[in-house]
Formats: sequence, structure tokens, C-alpha cells
Amino acid sequence: MVIDVASLHAAPDREWRGAYRGTIEVTPDTGLATSPVVGGLVATLSADSSSIAFHGDFQMSMRVACHWCAEPYDLDLDVEVDEVFTVVSEPPVSTEVEETVWARGGLDVDDLVRQHVILSLPARQHCGCPLPTAQDLPPLDPRWRKLADLGTPRPEETEDHGAT
Ligand SMILES: [Zn+2]
Repeated sequence: MVIDVASLHAAPDREWRGAYRGTIEVTPDTGLATSPVVGGLVATLSADSSSIAFHGDFQMSMRVACHWCAEPYDLDLDVEVDEVFTVVSEPPVSTEVEETVWARGGLDVDDLVRQHVILSLPARQHCGCPLPTAQDLPPLDPRWRKLADLGTPRPEETEDHGAT
């Protein structure tokens, strides 16, 4: 879906509001989309036509690999997008240029949604498998605990050394 900037000029309240449904493709490393992206969005052109405020709320499901056990599991994503795009009079030179939109072009909603879906993936993907924690480590052997105590002298012992 692409929102045509020119059509926003003519739209009531200079805004486009509607439902969104699309499919995104991600690299196999990222995961596998198991549902289309569905949601709703509002794009509003500012009164002086210098910017477009975009707000959208999208849901989708993805199958990703657990970072601990590497097993695939399903992840439900809720992706909120709030961005303001500057409307520029010249077509952007590079497709890498973010947050600008050409006055005679359009806002690529599919690409925007795709970027935000990827950004919304958790940094640590965990399927629920047991994690090694400090509590799971075997307790310190009593014999070693004595040695550990010897290695850490109490403060009063060191401070009073040699006095009186
Ligand atoms: Zn796991």
C-alpha cells in the first residue's frame, strides 16, 4: 500500500484513515511470517503541507527461533508506528533516506510496516525453555567455602593490624 501525497491535499481533513492488510517478507534468519499484517492507520498532511503525521497499529504472527535452544516458536507481535515525515519538493536521491516523502510521490506503508515489524522483534527471543540461572548452579562445597572465607578478611581485622 502506498499513500499518495497529492490525494491527501484533496482528502477531507487532509487525512487518510483506513484498514491495513498486507504480507511482509523477512529473511529466514529473522523468521517466518505466519499471518498477514493487519491493522489500521491514519496519515495526516499538516496544514502547511510540510509534513505527514503517520500513526498505525498492526498485529501479526511470526515463527522465530529461540536464542537459547534454537527451537522455532510462535510470536505474536503488536507493532505501533508513530512517525512524522517531512514532505520534500525533490524526489529523494537515495532510497535509504528515511522520514522524508516526495510531494509528488507517496508514502510506502508496506515498507514502513516491514521496518517496524523487524524493529519490534525482542532482542532475546525465548520460547519458554528452562534457562540456566544462578539458583540452578550447584551450591558451593563447604570445604571450598572455608577457603573462600580465608581469602576475604573482615574489615576490622585489617584496620586494627599492628595497633596497641
Ligand atoms: Zn528455547
